[in-house]
Amino acid sequence: MRAGIIGAGIGGIATAIRLRNKGYEVEVFEANNYAGGKLSSFEQGAYRFDAGPSLFTMPQFVEELFELSGKPISQYFEYIRLPEVCRYFWEDGTRLNVSADTKEFAQEAEKQLGEPAGKIAKVLKDSAFKYEILSGLFLEDSLHKLSTWTSAKALRGYLNLHKLGIFNTMNAANEQFFSTPKAVQMFNRYATYNGSDPYQTPATLNIIPHLEYNIGAFFPKNGMYGITGSLVALAQDLGVKFHFNSRVKEIVADTKVKGLKIEKADDKQSEDFRVFDIVVSNMDITPTYRKLLPNAKHPEKLLSQPKSGSGLIFYWGIKKEFSELGLHNIFFSDNYKAEFEHQFQKKTIYHDPTIYLNITSKYKKDDAPAGSENWFILLNAPANDGQDWDKIIAEARQNVIAKLSRNLKTDIAPLIESESILDPRSIELRTSSVQGALYGNSSNNKFAAFLRHANFSSRIKNLYFVGGSVHPGGGIPLALSSAKIVGGMVEEV
Ligand code: FAD
Repeated sequence: MRAGIIGAGIGGIATAIRLRNKGYEVEVFEANNYAGGKLSSFEQGAYRFDAGPSLFTMPQFVEELFELSGKPISQYFEYIRLPEVCRYFWEDGTRLNVSADTKEFAQEAEKQLGEPAGKIAKVLKDSAFKYEILSGLFLEDSLHKLSTWTSAKALRGYLNLHKLGIFNTMNAANEQFFSTPKAVQMFNRYATYNGSDPYQTPATLNIIPHLEYNIGAFFPKNGMYGITGSLVALAQDLGVKFHFNSRVKEIVADTKVKGLKIEKADDKQSEDFRVFDIVVSNMDITPTYRKLLPNAKHPEKLLSQPKSGSGLIFYWGIKKEFSELGLHNIFFSDNYKAEFEHQFQKKTIYHDPTIYLNITSKYKKDDAPAGSENWFILLNAPANDGQDWDKIIAEARQNVIAKLSRNLKTDIAPLIESESILDPRSIELRTSSVQGALYGNSSNNKFAAFLRHANFSSRIKNLYFVGGSVHPGGGIPLALSSAKIVGGMVEEV
């Protein structure tokens, strides 16, 4: 039996590994000349950068793929648990370095922010509880099978519905709970982990801190791209075939999948037809329907849902080292509410944006020359609606330089010796993600989980969907989880 996979994003690669383990002959067709989609890497002079994700949580989803394949993970992939989660900076001079030791974190939060240590401990416990109830239901199973809703896990969910934060926004819940605005802001930021707005998204998303604090934040020894590189190596060792520069043009199907039409790399006007028994699309669900299945019935309601936020990223080679910075650093906006209003209502970037600064050379020294650092700077940006991005980027760049220069008491501009920029337009172009959204559909409403496409087609037999634009959602762990769900649905051969 033959399986064709469209896209070598992390969801596509993980599915390839799972299907190969089920006995399929697996081929992956990737439009780019590299694997990983958003989770890729590039060099800029003497600097190396991870292009997209920078935070690695829930490594068990990666580990599982090696276990399943009977291969020792240590031969492919190494990672460490970070001793420090993040460094936070506020304009009034407040600083908070968050230790991975939750007791130390709570004590430091009390000292630096005035937030009672007991509240930090309690919120992390509550986050763990929410995760325990919700993960089995929303993250690990298909929501589109009756068995999910009649299981014991579901029953526990119904009984605890009132404790899950469904009826409150994240910000409202955090304001009711914490004593200080800075703690509210720190915990509101978790909405951005799936590209949503804490002033709209339900407090259910307060499960996210559990991942970072209780389970942990991790760093792959070869940088984030190490995840992609090691999984591609594993897949190849199992016999999965990757075809790069191979854009899929059509899924050929009637009521059942028949195969794929693939653009020829040397002649873009012509296509090859390849027969497959099953097809899995890792392409964003909207262009999967619009471009690859133009004649099928399209689930318009799901496809037209508002998209998650996108990002504006500056990759800077910085010819100086800053001891006050760590791997993950946040420089908060003075007006968080205004920042999200600009992102989601005005669809632009606020003049005082929260800056996320990631420096992998803090851990992986060869990512930057001696005495220098590779700065990955991410601003929350709206999805692409045809804004004047060149203007937005130019203004944002000036604001970022001014804010970092103020906070670090150093003129940053002359230290930037090389630069690349990624914006919602280029994200869309490189990965086919609609409007450059980082995490598929937005989670800004409480029904969002039900408004993502299922991991299978109910009309076309043997057609499946994986990745951040379908159930259970965006981010590396969820994209890997979608692959697990698909793997569980496909019969062994
Ligand atoms: P994608 O990465 O979207 O890849 C899809 C692949 O399909 C691409 O390679 C594309 O070229 C290919 N493709 C599309 N159409 C075709 C076609 N017709 N034929 C052949 N190939 C095709 N997540 C985290 O967990 N932590 C983070 O810190 C984090 N930060 C992020 C920061 C940025 C800047 C970005 C961009 C994303 C971030 N994310 C983060 C989100 C995470 O990267 C994604 O959710 C995840 O990588 C999506 O994987 P995917 O499987 O959906 O595939």
